Amino acid sequence: MNDEWFSKLKEFDSLTNMKTRHLAQMDEQKKRLDVLNLKRQEKEESINHALKAIHELQQNYHETEKKLITCEQQSSRLRDSGASEEKLGNYIKEAEKLESEMFVQLEKIEALEVEIEESKTFLIGLNKTFEEIGYEAQNEIGIHQNEIVQLEKRLELILNTLPLDFKNALEKTLKKKLAIGPFTRTDQSHCYFCRYKISRTEESEIDVQKILKFCPQCSRIFLPYGC
Ligand SMILES: [Zn+2]
Repeated sequence: MNDEWFSKLKEFDSLTNMKTRHLAQMDEQKKRLDVLNLKRQEKEESINHALKAIHELQQNYHETEKKLITCEQQSSRLRDSGASEEKLGNYIKEAEKLESEMFVQLEKIEALEVEIEESKTFLIGLNKTFEEIGYEAQNEIGIHQNEIVQLEKRLELILNTLPLDFKNALEKTLKKKLAIGPFTRTDQSHCYFCRYKISRTEESEIDVQKILKFCPQCSRIFLPYGC
């Protein structure tokens, strides 16, 4: 009789593995979308930074321009009042300095504008890729989600079909969330997973009499041979 329940446990195990694979594939699709999203965010942020920098540069440019106008007005006033060449020279130097500052600011603004245009072109391409991959990925995610829902229904069904001792054993072991699943087998008088030594009698109870038993060390359920 236990044969049937052990084969249900085995079915439970393979369905769980299938579910795990679907979850992993779903995660992979999500990661693909995340990578694209991250790239998009980075580009959008760099555009915003560039825009902010342009704004600051433009403000600086206007302030420098004001200084230049004042400087030129003062120098022309001085020239009109017949000031010395030396005094005028200082103003001319100052005006040249301000002009070259403005030139540098303009160059920076232009470079940033080119950068923004490039980022925008990149974003257009990225959004196109995003549309294509996004559609494909969402579709795949949906397929895996459906599969997972179906598998969960079947897992639930198996769990509710099992007699109480098997059901309790399975639930108790599942709660421990053991790596590589809740089941093990005997392997030359050892637990296949953790190598815990078991007696010949226990081995025969598991494999011949097909009695439900746990590994005392790793607490996995023993599946008998042939099940
Ligand atoms: Zn073990």
